[in-house]
Amino acid sequence: MNTLVYSIEQTENPETLYINLTNSCTNNCIFCLRTQKDDVCGKEMWLENENFSLDDIIEQFKQFSVPKSVCFCGYGEPMLRLELLKAFAKYLKEKYPGIFIRVNTNGHANAIHKRNVLPELKGLVDEFSVSLNGSDEEEYNRLSKPRISNAYDEVKKFIKTAADEGFSVVATIVTDFISGVPDKEKCKEVAVSLGAKFRAREFIPNGY
Ligand code: SF4
Repeated sequence: MNTLVYSIEQTENPETLYINLTNSCTNNCIFCLRTQKDDVCGKEMWLENENFSLDDIIEQFKQFSVPKSVCFCGYGEPMLRLELLKAFAKYLKEKYPGIFIRVNTNGHANAIHKRNVLPELKGLVDEFSVSLNGSDEEEYNRLSKPRISNAYDEVKKFIKTAADEGFSVVATIVTDFISGVPDKEKCKEVAVSLGAKFRAREFIPNGY
């Protein structure tokens, strides 16, 4: 069965539910859990197929108690499934307006969809957590191994546009992966210069 909705908390009433919309991504980060394991907290993250519908997501969501927040994350780039992401976020905002909605993203969406998609997400997404993972293009390419051209500039543009449009934006880096870490202080300067908050997080072996 496809794991579309999951929790990483060992409780029957998790505060956050995570949404797994796709196994595709336009990065191939050296620290990506997908290259190391198949599950997050025992939940198989590889999808059997990606033909599922909004109703399938809602059905799995209803198997949990109503959480405080929902995070689009999973084993892939959620903004690749933009229409499905928008539809589920709209469902949540209409039915459960108190739920805080975050999207963990690589920041490539505007390049992939060839337009600024952020206005379409106003009122649906509360916060973007964007993988910065590089204080410059060379560092970014080495750590994130993007499959699109000009990716580092695209990520920075996405962060700035989202911040300018009034979204809460957190630019993130992974600090302690054994094969390479970005320059934390320089990354923080980049994040702040783009109008974002900054978060350096440790590598989480069990993932989320
Ligand atoms: S952006 Fe996320 S899903 Fe994509 S390769 Fe990097 S860690 Fe994996």
